Amino acid sequence: MLRLPKFQVAQPRNVDDAVAILAEHGDRARIVAGGTDLVPNMKHELFTPDVVVSLARINDLSGVCEADGGALLIGAMTTIDAVAKHELVAERAPALAQAASLIAGPQLRRMGTLGGNVMLDTRCQWYNQTYFWRQALGFCLKKDGTECHVVAGGKKCVAAASNDTAPALMSLGASLVFAGPDGRREITVDDLWHNDGIWNKKVGADELLTEVRIPRQAPGHRGAYGKLRDRGSIDFPLLGLAVRLDLDDAGAVADADLVAVALQARPARVRGIAELLQGTRPGEPAFDEAVELTAAAAYKQCRPLDNVPGDSDYRREMVPVYARQTLRAAVEGTGPVHHL
Ligand SMILES: Cc1cc2nc3c(=O)[nH]c(=O)nc-3n(C[C@H](O)[C@H](O)[C@H](O)COP(=O)(O)OP(=O)(O)OC[C@H]3O[C@@H](n4cnc5c(N)ncnc54)[C@H](O)[C@@H]3O)c2cc1C
Ligand code: SF4
Repeated sequence: MLRLPKFQVAQPRNVDDAVAILAEHGDRARIVAGGTDLVPNMKHELFTPDVVVSLARINDLSGVCEADGGALLIGAMTTIDAVAKHELVAERAPALAQAASLIAGPQLRRMGTLGGNVMLDTRCQWYNQTYFWRQALGFCLKKDGTECHVVAGGKKCVAAASNDTAPALMSLGASLVFAGPDGRREITVDDLWHNDGIWNKKVGADELLTEVRIPRQAPGHRGAYGKLRDRGSIDFPLLGLAVRLDLDDAGAVADADLVAVALQARPARVRGIAELLQGTRPGEPAFDEAVELTAAAAYKQCRPLDNVPGDSDYRREMVPVYARQTLRAAVEGTGPVHHL
Protein backbone atom coordinates (compact mmCIF):
# COMPACT_ATOMS: atom_id res chain seq x y z
CA MET A 1 0.00 0.00 0.00
CA LEU A 2 1.28 3.46 -0.87
CA ARG A 3 1.32 5.90 2.05
CA LEU A 4 1.28 9.67 2.00
CA PRO A 5 4.37 11.41 3.36
CA LYS A 6 3.76 13.69 6.39
CA PHE A 7 2.56 17.23 5.71
CA GLN A 8 0.51 20.03 7.27
CA VAL A 9 -2.79 21.23 5.84
CA ALA A 10 -3.67 24.92 5.71
CA GLN A 11 -7.33 25.76 5.16
CA PRO A 12 -7.61 29.47 4.37
CA ARG A 13 -11.09 31.04 4.10
CA ASN A 14 -10.26 33.54 1.38
CA VAL A 15 -7.96 33.97 -1.61
CA ASP A 16 -5.74 36.63 0.02
CA ASP A 17 -4.97 34.35 2.97
CA ALA A 18 -4.23 31.45 0.60
CA VAL A 19 -1.81 33.62 -1.39
CA ALA A 20 -0.10 34.79 1.83
CA ILE A 21 0.40 31.19 3.00
CA LEU A 22 1.81 30.20 -0.40
CA ALA A 23 4.21 33.18 -0.32
CA GLU A 24 5.33 32.33 3.23
CA HIS A 25 6.24 28.72 2.43
CA GLY A 26 7.55 29.15 -1.13
CA ASP A 27 8.32 25.90 -2.92
CA ARG A 28 7.60 23.90 0.25
CA ALA A 29 3.88 24.59 -0.25
CA ARG A 30 1.46 23.15 -2.79
CA ILE A 31 -2.15 24.00 -3.62
CA VAL A 32 -4.76 21.24 -3.39
CA ALA A 33 -8.23 21.56 -4.93
CA GLY A 34 -10.00 18.19 -5.40
CA GLY A 35 -6.73 16.31 -4.78
CA THR A 36 -7.42 13.74 -7.50
CA ASP A 37 -4.03 14.33 -9.10
CA LEU A 38 -1.98 15.84 -6.29
CA VAL A 39 -2.67 13.05 -3.79
CA PRO A 40 -1.59 10.16 -6.07
CA ASN A 41 1.46 12.22 -7.04
CA MET A 42 2.33 12.71 -3.37
CA LYS A 43 1.95 8.99 -2.76
CA HIS A 44 4.42 8.44 -5.60
CA GLU A 45 6.73 10.99 -3.90
CA LEU A 46 6.71 13.17 -7.00
CA PHE A 47 5.78 16.06 -4.70
CA THR A 48 6.67 16.13 -1.02
CA PRO A 49 5.37 19.49 0.23
CA ASP A 50 5.56 20.44 3.91
CA VAL A 51 2.33 22.42 3.62
CA VAL A 52 -0.69 21.63 1.47
CA VAL A 53 -2.93 24.67 0.98
CA SER A 54 -6.52 23.49 0.54
CA LEU A 55 -8.95 25.70 -1.41
CA ALA A 56 -11.96 23.75 -0.14
CA ARG A 57 -13.08 26.37 2.42
CA ILE A 58 -12.93 29.34 0.06
CA ASN A 59 -16.58 29.83 -0.84
CA ASP A 60 -16.49 32.18 -3.79
CA LEU A 61 -14.37 30.02 -6.13
CA SER A 62 -17.20 27.75 -7.33
CA GLY A 63 -19.94 28.12 -9.89
CA VAL A 64 -20.76 29.11 -13.45
CA CYS A 65 -22.31 32.47 -14.34
CA GLU A 66 -22.76 34.80 -17.28
CA ALA A 67 -21.13 38.23 -17.30
CA ASP A 68 -22.45 41.35 -19.02
CA GLY A 69 -21.69 40.85 -22.69
CA GLY A 70 -22.29 37.11 -22.50
CA ALA A 71 -18.89 35.79 -21.36
CA LEU A 72 -19.02 32.66 -19.20
CA LEU A 73 -17.24 32.91 -15.85
CA ILE A 74 -16.36 29.59 -14.21
CA GLY A 75 -14.83 29.48 -10.73
CA ALA A 76 -11.63 27.45 -10.45
CA MET A 77 -13.17 25.18 -7.77
CA THR A 78 -16.16 24.26 -9.94
CA THR A 79 -16.12 20.48 -10.22
CA ILE A 80 -15.47 18.80 -13.55
CA ASP A 81 -18.85 17.10 -13.18
CA ALA A 82 -20.61 20.48 -12.80
CA VAL A 83 -18.78 21.86 -15.86
CA ALA A 84 -19.75 18.79 -17.90
CA LYS A 85 -23.42 19.03 -16.93
CA HIS A 86 -24.01 22.78 -16.87
CA GLU A 87 -26.58 23.86 -19.49
CA LEU A 88 -24.89 27.16 -20.29
CA VAL A 89 -21.52 25.46 -20.80
CA ALA A 90 -23.06 22.78 -23.02
CA GLU A 91 -24.84 25.42 -25.07
CA ARG A 92 -22.11 28.08 -25.32
CA ALA A 93 -18.93 26.02 -25.07
CA PRO A 94 -19.78 22.47 -26.20
CA ALA A 95 -16.13 21.41 -26.64
CA LEU A 96 -15.45 22.22 -22.97
CA ALA A 97 -18.56 20.40 -21.70
CA GLN A 98 -17.65 17.37 -23.82
CA ALA A 99 -13.99 17.36 -22.76
CA ALA A 100 -15.05 17.56 -19.09
CA SER A 101 -17.53 14.71 -19.56
CA LEU A 102 -14.69 12.41 -20.70
CA ILE A 103 -12.26 13.16 -17.86
CA ALA A 104 -11.42 10.16 -15.65
CA GLY A 105 -14.53 8.47 -14.15
CA PRO A 106 -17.63 9.71 -12.28
CA GLN A 107 -16.12 9.80 -8.76
CA LEU A 108 -13.04 11.68 -9.94
CA ARG A 109 -15.17 14.15 -11.91
CA ARG A 110 -17.16 14.91 -8.75
CA MET A 111 -13.99 15.57 -6.72
CA GLY A 112 -11.75 17.06 -9.43
CA THR A 113 -12.03 20.73 -10.33
CA LEU A 114 -11.63 22.81 -13.47
CA GLY A 115 -8.76 24.75 -11.85
CA GLY A 116 -6.96 21.52 -10.94
CA ASN A 117 -7.39 20.30 -14.50
CA VAL A 118 -5.96 23.45 -16.07
CA MET A 119 -3.03 23.37 -13.62
CA LEU A 120 -2.47 19.60 -13.95
CA ASP A 121 1.14 18.41 -13.92
CA THR A 122 2.47 16.93 -17.17
CA ARG A 123 2.47 13.15 -17.39
CA CYS A 124 4.93 10.49 -18.55
CA GLN A 125 4.96 6.73 -18.29
CA TRP A 126 8.50 6.88 -16.85
CA TYR A 127 7.51 9.46 -14.24
CA ASN A 128 4.00 8.70 -12.95
CA GLN A 129 5.28 5.70 -11.03
CA THR A 130 6.16 4.82 -7.45
CA TYR A 131 9.45 5.93 -5.92
CA PHE A 132 10.63 2.28 -5.91
CA TRP A 133 9.86 1.91 -9.65
CA ARG A 134 11.54 5.22 -10.56
CA GLN A 135 14.57 4.43 -8.42
CA ALA A 136 14.99 1.04 -10.15
CA LEU A 137 15.06 2.91 -13.48
CA GLY A 138 17.56 5.50 -12.26
CA PHE A 139 14.99 8.34 -12.10
CA CYS A 140 14.78 10.98 -14.87
CA LEU A 141 15.22 14.68 -15.64
CA LYS A 142 11.78 15.65 -14.34
CA LYS A 143 12.47 14.32 -10.86
CA ASP A 144 15.66 13.19 -9.12
CA GLY A 145 17.58 12.09 -12.26
CA THR A 146 19.76 13.32 -15.11
CA GLU A 147 18.45 11.60 -18.23
CA CYS A 148 15.29 11.29 -20.27
CA HIS A 149 13.91 7.83 -21.11
CA VAL A 150 11.74 9.13 -23.96
CA VAL A 151 14.34 11.05 -25.97
CA ALA A 152 17.75 9.35 -25.71
CA GLY A 153 20.32 12.01 -24.84
CA GLY A 154 17.52 14.59 -24.51
CA LYS A 155 18.23 17.58 -22.30
CA LYS A 156 14.61 18.71 -22.05
CA CYS A 157 11.69 16.90 -20.47
CA VAL A 158 8.92 16.12 -22.98
CA ALA A 159 6.30 14.81 -20.53
CA ALA A 160 2.85 15.39 -22.01
CA ALA A 161 0.24 17.98 -21.13
CA SER A 162 -2.65 15.59 -20.45
CA ASN A 163 -5.44 17.91 -19.30
CA ASP A 164 -8.54 17.42 -21.43
CA THR A 165 -10.00 20.88 -20.78
CA ALA A 166 -6.85 22.72 -21.95
CA PRO A 167 -7.31 22.31 -25.74
CA ALA A 168 -11.04 23.01 -25.42
CA LEU A 169 -10.34 26.25 -23.55
CA MET A 170 -7.70 27.25 -26.11
CA SER A 171 -10.11 26.65 -28.99
CA LEU A 172 -12.63 28.90 -27.21
CA GLY A 173 -10.14 31.75 -26.69
CA ALA A 174 -10.54 31.50 -22.89
CA SER A 175 -8.48 33.40 -20.33
CA LEU A 176 -7.47 32.71 -16.74
CA VAL A 177 -7.43 34.94 -13.67
CA PHE A 178 -4.60 34.32 -11.20
CA ALA A 179 -4.06 35.79 -7.73
CA GLY A 180 -0.46 35.95 -6.59
CA PRO A 181 2.01 37.87 -4.44
CA ASP A 182 1.94 40.78 -6.93
CA GLY A 183 -1.86 40.97 -7.12
CA ARG A 184 -4.26 39.67 -9.77
CA ARG A 185 -3.58 39.18 -13.45
CA GLU A 186 -5.43 37.74 -16.41
CA ILE A 187 -3.70 35.75 -19.15
CA THR A 188 -5.05 33.83 -22.11
CA VAL A 189 -4.94 30.04 -21.93
CA ASP A 190 -2.83 30.19 -25.11
CA ASP A 191 -0.21 32.16 -23.18
CA LEU A 192 -0.14 29.87 -20.15
CA TRP A 193 2.22 27.28 -21.55
CA HIS A 194 5.97 26.66 -21.76
CA ASN A 195 7.12 23.74 -23.87
CA ASP A 196 8.96 22.24 -20.87
CA GLY A 197 7.59 19.08 -19.28
CA ILE A 198 9.18 19.81 -15.90
CA TRP A 199 6.88 22.83 -15.34
CA ASN A 200 4.85 23.66 -18.44
CA LYS A 201 3.29 26.89 -17.17
CA LYS A 202 4.39 30.51 -17.25
CA VAL A 203 2.84 31.23 -13.85
CA GLY A 204 4.57 30.36 -10.57
CA ALA A 205 3.43 27.63 -8.19
CA ASP A 206 2.63 30.48 -5.76
CA GLU A 207 -0.10 31.83 -8.06
CA LEU A 208 -3.64 30.68 -7.50
CA LEU A 209 -6.06 30.27 -10.40
CA THR A 210 -9.37 31.82 -9.34
CA GLU A 211 -11.49 31.96 -12.48
CA VAL A 212 -11.76 30.80 -16.09
CA ARG A 213 -13.34 33.29 -18.53
CA ILE A 214 -14.79 32.16 -21.85
CA PRO A 215 -15.69 34.99 -24.22
CA ARG A 216 -19.05 34.98 -25.96
CA GLN A 217 -18.67 32.86 -29.09
CA ALA A 218 -19.84 33.78 -32.61
CA PRO A 219 -23.59 33.20 -33.24
CA GLY A 220 -22.83 30.24 -35.53
CA HIS A 221 -20.39 28.63 -33.08
CA ARG A 222 -19.97 24.85 -33.23
CA GLY A 223 -17.60 22.86 -31.05
CA ALA A 224 -16.67 19.27 -30.22
CA TYR A 225 -14.04 17.22 -28.41
CA GLY A 226 -12.55 13.90 -29.47
CA LYS A 227 -10.54 11.68 -27.14
CA LEU A 228 -8.52 8.52 -27.70
CA ARG A 229 -7.86 6.49 -24.56
CA ASP A 230 -7.36 2.89 -23.51
CA ARG A 231 -10.36 2.46 -21.20
CA GLY A 232 -13.37 4.66 -21.91
CA SER A 233 -14.38 4.48 -18.26
CA ILE A 234 -11.41 6.25 -16.69
CA ASP A 235 -8.17 6.85 -18.59
CA PHE A 236 -6.12 9.95 -19.35
CA PRO A 237 -5.99 10.93 -23.07
CA LEU A 238 -3.61 9.21 -25.48
CA LEU A 239 -4.74 12.01 -27.79
CA GLY A 240 -7.28 14.80 -27.31
CA LEU A 241 -8.58 17.12 -30.05
CA ALA A 242 -10.80 20.17 -29.58
CA VAL A 243 -12.55 21.72 -32.57
CA ARG A 244 -14.14 25.14 -33.03
CA LEU A 245 -16.07 25.99 -36.21
CA ASP A 246 -17.83 29.35 -36.61
CA LEU A 247 -20.47 29.35 -39.35
CA ASP A 248 -21.67 32.61 -40.91
CA ASP A 249 -25.28 33.54 -41.70
CA ALA A 250 -25.08 31.64 -45.00
CA GLY A 251 -23.86 28.49 -43.22
CA ALA A 252 -20.29 28.69 -44.53
CA VAL A 253 -17.22 28.37 -42.29
CA ALA A 254 -16.07 31.85 -41.22
CA ASP A 255 -13.36 30.68 -38.81
CA ALA A 256 -12.00 27.41 -37.41
CA ASP A 257 -9.58 26.11 -34.80
CA LEU A 258 -8.15 22.68 -33.89
CA VAL A 259 -6.06 22.12 -30.75
CA ALA A 260 -4.42 18.87 -29.62
CA VAL A 261 -3.27 17.56 -26.24
CA ALA A 262 -1.27 14.54 -24.96
CA LEU A 263 1.46 14.95 -27.57
CA GLN A 264 4.09 17.19 -26.02
CA ALA A 265 4.61 19.35 -22.94
CA ARG A 266 2.05 21.95 -24.04
CA PRO A 267 -1.28 21.70 -25.83
CA ALA A 268 -0.61 22.45 -29.51
CA ARG A 269 -2.66 24.24 -32.15
CA VAL A 270 -2.81 22.71 -35.62
CA ARG A 271 -1.73 25.63 -37.81
CA GLY A 272 -3.42 26.79 -40.99
CA ILE A 273 -6.75 24.99 -40.70
CA ALA A 274 -8.91 28.15 -40.77
CA GLU A 275 -7.51 28.89 -44.23
CA LEU A 276 -8.39 25.36 -45.39
CA LEU A 277 -11.97 25.45 -44.13
CA GLN A 278 -12.99 29.10 -44.58
CA GLY A 279 -15.73 29.67 -47.13
CA THR A 280 -16.71 25.99 -47.39
CA ARG A 281 -20.23 24.93 -46.45
CA PRO A 282 -20.95 21.70 -44.52
CA GLY A 283 -22.89 19.29 -46.73
CA GLU A 284 -21.09 20.41 -49.88
CA PRO A 285 -18.12 18.62 -51.55
CA ALA A 286 -15.73 21.54 -50.89
CA PHE A 287 -16.27 21.12 -47.14
CA ASP A 288 -15.57 17.37 -47.35
CA GLU A 289 -12.35 18.11 -49.23
CA ALA A 290 -11.35 20.74 -46.65
CA VAL A 291 -11.98 18.24 -43.84
CA GLU A 292 -9.62 15.76 -45.55
CA LEU A 293 -6.97 18.48 -45.97
CA THR A 294 -7.39 19.43 -42.30
CA ALA A 295 -6.98 15.80 -41.22
CA ALA A 296 -3.82 15.58 -43.35
CA ALA A 297 -2.45 18.81 -41.83
CA ALA A 298 -3.13 17.45 -38.33
CA TYR A 299 -1.30 14.21 -39.22
CA LYS A 300 1.69 16.18 -40.49
CA GLN A 301 1.93 18.47 -37.49
CA CYS A 302 1.03 16.13 -34.59
CA ARG A 303 3.83 13.74 -33.67
CA PRO A 304 3.09 11.71 -30.53
CA LEU A 305 6.13 10.64 -28.46
CA ASP A 306 6.60 7.64 -26.18
CA ASN A 307 5.84 9.87 -23.20
CA VAL A 308 2.36 8.57 -22.38
CA PRO A 309 1.32 4.91 -22.70
CA GLY A 310 0.12 3.62 -26.06
CA ASP A 311 2.16 2.96 -29.17
CA SER A 312 3.17 6.35 -30.61
CA ASP A 313 2.79 5.18 -34.25
CA TYR A 314 -0.75 4.02 -33.50
CA ARG A 315 -1.52 7.31 -31.73
CA ARG A 316 -0.26 9.22 -34.79
CA GLU A 317 -2.40 7.15 -37.17
CA MET A 318 -5.38 8.06 -35.00
CA VAL A 319 -4.76 11.81 -35.38
CA PRO A 320 -6.45 12.21 -38.81
CA VAL A 321 -9.21 9.78 -37.82
CA TYR A 322 -10.09 11.85 -34.74
CA ALA A 323 -9.60 15.17 -36.56
CA ARG A 324 -12.07 14.14 -39.27
CA GLN A 325 -14.64 12.72 -36.85
CA THR A 326 -14.42 15.61 -34.39
CA LEU A 327 -14.88 18.19 -37.16
CA ARG A 328 -17.97 16.34 -38.36
CA ALA A 329 -19.28 15.97 -34.79
CA ALA A 330 -18.93 19.75 -34.34
CA VAL A 331 -21.02 20.41 -37.44
CA GLU A 332 -23.65 17.80 -36.61
CA GLY A 333 -23.74 18.46 -32.85
CA THR A 334 -23.06 14.79 -32.14
CA GLY A 335 -19.91 15.06 -29.97
CA PRO A 336 -18.03 13.95 -27.99
CA VAL A 337 -16.03 11.54 -30.14
CA HIS A 338 -14.71 8.50 -28.29
CA HIS A 339 -14.74 4.85 -29.13
CA LEU A 340 -13.89 2.70 -26.14
C1 LIG B 1 -7.44 7.38 -12.42
C2 LIG B 1 -7.36 8.81 -12.85
C3 LIG B 1 -7.78 9.15 -14.13
C4 LIG B 1 -7.70 10.48 -14.57
N1 LIG B 1 -8.10 10.76 -15.84
C5 LIG B 1 -8.00 12.04 -16.30
C6 LIG B 1 -8.40 12.35 -17.62
O1 LIG B 1 -8.89 11.48 -18.37
N2 LIG B 1 -8.22 13.61 -18.07
C7 LIG B 1 -7.71 14.59 -17.28
O2 LIG B 1 -7.57 15.73 -17.75
N3 LIG B 1 -7.36 14.35 -15.99
C8 LIG B 1 -7.50 13.09 -15.48
N4 LIG B 1 -7.14 12.81 -14.18
C9 LIG B 1 -6.53 13.85 -13.35
C10 LIG B 1 -7.48 14.62 -12.44
O3 LIG B 1 -8.46 13.80 -11.88
C11 LIG B 1 -8.16 15.77 -13.16
O4 LIG B 1 -7.24 16.43 -13.98
C12 LIG B 1 -8.79 16.77 -12.19
O5 LIG B 1 -9.51 17.75 -12.91
C13 LIG B 1 -7.76 17.49 -11.32
O6 LIG B 1 -8.46 18.41 -10.51
P1 LIG B 1 -8.24 18.43 -8.92
O7 LIG B 1 -9.11 19.52 -8.40
O8 LIG B 1 -8.44 17.10 -8.30
O9 LIG B 1 -6.70 18.84 -8.86
P2 LIG B 1 -5.65 18.63 -7.69
O10 LIG B 1 -5.18 17.22 -7.69
O11 LIG B 1 -6.15 19.20 -6.42
O12 LIG B 1 -4.49 19.58 -8.24
C14 LIG B 1 -3.83 19.29 -9.47
C15 LIG B 1 -2.68 20.30 -9.65
O13 LIG B 1 -3.19 21.60 -9.85
C16 LIG B 1 -2.76 22.50 -8.81
N5 LIG B 1 -3.95 23.32 -8.54
C17 LIG B 1 -5.19 22.87 -8.24
N6 LIG B 1 -6.05 23.90 -8.17
C18 LIG B 1 -5.34 25.03 -8.43
C19 LIG B 1 -5.68 26.39 -8.49
N7 LIG B 1 -6.93 26.84 -8.32
N8 LIG B 1 -4.68 27.28 -8.76
C20 LIG B 1 -3.41 26.88 -8.97
N9 LIG B 1 -3.04 25.58 -8.92
C21 LIG B 1 -3.99 24.66 -8.65
C22 LIG B 1 -2.30 21.62 -7.68
O14 LIG B 1 -1.28 22.24 -6.91
C23 LIG B 1 -1.79 20.40 -8.42
O15 LIG B 1 -0.47 20.61 -8.87
C24 LIG B 1 -7.22 11.49 -13.69
C25 LIG B 1 -6.84 11.15 -12.39
C26 LIG B 1 -6.89 9.83 -11.98
C27 LIG B 1 -6.49 9.49 -10.57
S1 SF4 C 1 9.86 12.95 -20.76
FE1 SF4 C 1 9.45 11.44 -19.19
S2 SF4 C 1 11.36 10.30 -18.96
FE2 SF4 C 1 11.85 12.19 -20.06
S3 SF4 C 1 12.47 13.59 -18.43
FE3 SF4 C 1 10.31 13.94 -18.81
S4 SF4 C 1 9.23 12.66 -17.33
FE4 SF4 C 1 11.35 11.93 -17.44
